[in-house]
Amino acid sequence: MRADELLEQAGLRKTRQRLRILNTLIKATKPMSQEEIAFKLKGNTPNKVTIYRCMEDFLAVGLIHEAYIEARKRYYELGHHCNDTQCHPHFTCIKCGITQCMFEASVPMAKGIQKGFLVHRQQVRLQGLCPNCC
Ligand SMILES: [Zn+2]
Ligand SMILES: [Zn+2]
Ligand SMILES: [Zn+2]
Repeated sequence: MRADELLEQAGLRKTRQRLRILNTLIKATKPMSQEEIAFKLKGNTPNKVTIYRCMEDFLAVGLIHEAYIEARKRYYELGHHCNDTQCHPHFTCIKCGITQCMFEASVPMAKGIQKGFLVHRQQVRLQGLCPNCC
């Protein structure tokens, strides 16, 4: 998976900042907040507004997803481990607080949604104990 190919497929112009941010997310092993991305890009960091704008563009075309919110911070990841209607679940350990992607887990889509509501995407958050804390 290459950043320039992803941008091309998404129909986004290949700017240096977009490529750098996207590369950071490609290398990431877990969802990242904007602060973490800025920290990784340290050196000649694009400013926070630039990162924010790039993330908004990525979100708009579905290149990245907002995986979850924790301690008021939004965490993002590439959308390639998700399908059109559902993201892979995320598991948060209640003891060590670490959240992990559950790429292999699948959850049936919600049923019995009240009339008038249109579901675009289902995101499931699991809680419990991780193997280190069990
Ligand atoms: Zn997703
Ligand atoms: Zn744990
Ligand atoms: Zn994930």
